[in-house]
Amino acid sequence: MNSERSIISDLFFGLLRCTITCSSCKQASITYETFNSLTMSLPRFNPCSLNDCMEEKFVTGQKVSEWECPKCQIPRDATKKFDFVKLAPIVVIHLNRFAYGWMNGEWLEKRHTAVDFPLTGFNLKPYLMENTIMSNNIRNYNYSLYAISNHYGMDYGGHYTAFCKNPAQNTWYEYDDETVKEVSPSQVKFQINRSAYLLFYTSFPNTIM
Ligand SMILES: [Zn+2]
Repeated sequence: MNSERSIISDLFFGLLRCTITCSSCKQASITYETFNSLTMSLPRFNPCSLNDCMEEKFVTGQKVSEWECPKCQIPRDATKKFDFVKLAPIVVIHLNRFAYGWMNGEWLEKRHTAVDFPLTGFNLKPYLMENTIMSNNIRNYNYSLYAISNHYGMDYGGHYTAFCKNPAQNTWYEYDDETVKEVSPSQVKFQINRSAYLLFYTSFPNTIM
């Protein structure tokens, strides 16, 4: 990560450890990858919370089929889970609402799943790799939401709006083409929980962002 360091990488790029464990022989395969956003797959019908998504990605892990286990040397079922090795002060969460619908073959479908996400106190410490807590420079693991990008409509077309917080006023605004209006925190949380597409969290204190 140090070879191409910039203000962008300092603000947005973190490091993930990915562990894939064979369900049969329990052999674990570990790789590391940089990230500038975290993609969350959403359930098709049921409402979910961002913490549910985080638990699945970072604690219980997601089921993977046909994984080529290096020990068994045949495709096996496996579990894939992540840990944070390094966290940047800005974490972008991508709620992946576009999935291939199994009902209609190759068509991309949009999921309007309601996602409950915290405005403040989004604690990422439980998802940090063991033993790294003291060795990196992060002092604050509690992230606050400061912006959301929303997508309305289907995959073939649609409309984007944004909600952004003004740090000086501590007030949220909705940006919809030429229209800008103030919105309450509860509108931010509930009005767009079926259309929120990108969530921008920061560990910077409220006085900065
Ligand atoms: Zn195996």
